[in-house]
Amino acid sequence: MVGQTVGRFAPTPSGHLHLGNLFSSLLAWLSAKSQGGRIIFRCEDLDPDRSYREFAVQAQHDLELLGLTWEEGGGLGGPHGPYDQGSRFHFYQSQLDKLEALGLVYPCFCSRAQLHAASAPHASDGEPIYAGTCRGLSPQQVAEKRKTRSPALRLQVPEEVISFTDLHYGPQEQFLPTGCGDFILRRSDGVFAYQLAVTTDDGAMGVTQVVRGRDLLSSTPRQILLFRLLGYPVPQFAHTPLLLAPDGRRLSKRDGDQCLSGLMAKGLSPQQVVGRLAFLAGLLPRPEAVTPQELLPLFSWEKVPREDVVIPWEFLE
Ligand code: GLU
Repeated sequence: MVGQTVGRFAPTPSGHLHLGNLFSSLLAWLSAKSQGGRIIFRCEDLDPDRSYREFAVQAQHDLELLGLTWEEGGGLGGPHGPYDQGSRFHFYQSQLDKLEALGLVYPCFCSRAQLHAASAPHASDGEPIYAGTCRGLSPQQVAEKRKTRSPALRLQVPEEVISFTDLHYGPQEQFLPTGCGDFILRRSDGVFAYQLAVTTDDGAMGVTQVVRGRDLLSSTPRQILLFRLLGYPVPQFAHTPLLLAPDGRRLSKRDGDQCLSGLMAKGLSPQQVVGRLAFLAGLLPRPEAVTPQELLPLFSWEKVPREDVVIPWEFLE
């Protein structure tokens, strides 16, 4: 028997959710709910320097206003808490310990400047691929370097191709050494890396379907590797096209791009915002006011474009 679909909202509270975040949240909700599934709300306040309580509260409020409900986490509690990544460091450490026990983790003392050297090859997400400089350090060399610098911890990736089928973008594959290289599990300041936190949280919380912007498509092979190494079932992945500002720019929480409260201050109702998002997702022929519930019978991944979608100027007025 196939189990119930478990989707999730996983906002990083570094700013207001912008229209692109709301767009992928709507699609995550529709995708899970159209399969009779449920949703977990997890606050990804992993990085203390970039996370603000007020934005975490606002994110919940925005999703609630739009009618994007959840059944677990986000103030409701549940069996897999805590649901704030900032409170889960012991858990991440236990997961890191497991990877260390597999002999796959090594300390890396390279500086930012070394990592971003002009000669470094870059992955498709623009991050430099690690040259492996610290992979072969002897215990003596590590001890010596530790005296002056605390290391980041990296996962040594196998010479393996990871393949998967994205529910929206179809078959994908990545050869790990050239697609991402040895990647960071814990930063030198002790903060756990997104890849480790998101994977182990999804695994431990029983998430079966991950829906998010396609900017994270190239992270998925790394995450599949971690799911496998740590013995978690690999969820389904569905990436969404990105919404672009009318001038073609990527939306960013940092730029104060259009958020729900900004649009509502201009007189739009939450249902009108849902209608515009649904129109951009190809689910409605016209941008009419609608609730997520009313969209359920209209939802299908086939209708959603694969190309990124430029938001028309008039949608922001
Ligand atoms: N927390 C990430 C964000 O807000 C999303 C992570 C994910 O969906 O895997 O962009």
